[in-house]
Amino acid sequence: MTVVRDVPKQLFIGGGWQDAESGRTLSVDNPATGEALCQVADASPADGRRAVEAAVAAQASWAATPPRVRSEILRRAYDIIIARTEDLALLMTLEMGKPLAEARAEVAYGAEFFRWFSEEAVRIDGGLTTAPDGRNRLLVTRQPVGPCLLITPWNFPLAMGTRKIGPAIAAGCTIVLKPAPQTPLTSLALAEILTEAGLPAGVLNIVTTTDAAGVVEPLLRGGQIRKLSFTGSTQVGRILLAQCADTVIRTSMELGGNAPLIVFDDADLDVAIEGTMVAKMRNMGESCCAANRIYVHTSVADEFATRLAARMAALKVGDGTEPGSDVGPLIDIVGRSKAHDLVRDAVKRGATVLTGGELPEGPGCFYPPTVLTGIAPESAIIDTEIFGPVAAIRTFETEDEAIAAANDTEFGLAAYLFTQNLDRALRVSERLESGMIGVNTGLVSNPAAPFGGVKQSGLGREGGRVGIDEFLEYKYIAVPVG
Ligand code: ADP
Repeated sequence: MTVVRDVPKQLFIGGGWQDAESGRTLSVDNPATGEALCQVADASPADGRRAVEAAVAAQASWAATPPRVRSEILRRAYDIIIARTEDLALLMTLEMGKPLAEARAEVAYGAEFFRWFSEEAVRIDGGLTTAPDGRNRLLVTRQPVGPCLLITPWNFPLAMGTRKIGPAIAAGCTIVLKPAPQTPLTSLALAEILTEAGLPAGVLNIVTTTDAAGVVEPLLRGGQIRKLSFTGSTQVGRILLAQCADTVIRTSMELGGNAPLIVFDDADLDVAIEGTMVAKMRNMGESCCAANRIYVHTSVADEFATRLAARMAALKVGDGTEPGSDVGPLIDIVGRSKAHDLVRDAVKRGATVLTGGELPEGPGCFYPPTVLTGIAPESAIIDTEIFGPVAAIRTFETEDEAIAAANDTEFGLAAYLFTQNLDRALRVSERLESGMIGVNTGLVSNPAAPFGGVKQSGLGREGGRVGIDEFLEYKYIAVPVG
């Protein structure tokens, strides 16, 4: 595959491509075939330190670079990404598994973070006010927080990178990016694109490694990184928060979800089914916003479940590079086993399988779209992030009951509700403990919106007007006058 051959396979440090000091490499595999695509450098802690040193060395001059220059680099990178949509989409399909149509959609979504933050780079504002005593002038300005460590997951190889790199560049921060070891190629391709767009050496450094814990911990304890932006599991997020506490590093944490999706009796069922398909099946369910628990009013539950199962059963499972594939493989065999174990546990406790539920034969990490009804309350699927194409349907009688069930989780990232009653939509939205709510839609991700969670789904927001704030620090200068 030329797209794989053309991507650099080394670490990107100080504007140059380098092998890992140890000479070690890691294997990038295609989840549709189980076969290796290529090898890339596998960094050790020493490589991580060199990346941080490069970021630190570049910080002062990058912070002093005019906002318009930073803005135009991002804008050029946006244009290049869009021009290379086909190559980047294929690269993501190969290393991650999603069907090409979804990969193309991610290219558009991921690129948009660069365009959005290119527009924000020149709008970083401050203020000048008079203190209540009438004498002091309070001059407030904003400065980049400094060198940032960005850690990304494998499920959206491009967008999870651009969502963090975009605001960091716009704010004037330098970066060490550690992508997930399953999907390093898209990040390495992005480094090339940003270099072509004019990003100076050392502003972005990329460290690919299978030893995330070993490489990251010394960097957080080293005293030079001023900000950690992490997207991944709540379990790893807790470990990183503890490490950041020791050196008081600012954090943005986009962690796990357990999104409820509520279908009220007054919902338009066509809209609800369509929205559920998106909320459940986007990215094969491998999204932290994926609908994890589906609550349907008893009066429409049978019709909803039957229609959803028919739609799910009609999806074509297959290699994402093949035309017509709707559902690609899951990321790896571990991910597939986890989804299947949750299905088996639910069935053991009395759930009914309307479609799917069987492990397919043959190579690759495929799992069929699955619909379960009659989920017993003690089933593990209710409070475990499924990260697969499995829809678990339960029923409710009253609005209060639905809200209580939806909120009965330590997570609070996304929630979805379907109703034609505006009053109810707003009332329920306000009572749901969730950072993002989709009303009559299964898609909440939008570069112009503040993305993030409450409770153990995370801290901080990415995207929107506030996304850049996470990379800026206020500075207040007191000036007595007269
Ligand atoms: P997932 O289960 O989706 O892979 P993880 O939270 O394990 O989610 O991984 C998300 C990102 O965090 C990946 O880039 C991974 O390599 C990284 N990671 C995993 N464990 C650690 C750790 N102990 N310290 C730092 N980064 C880690």
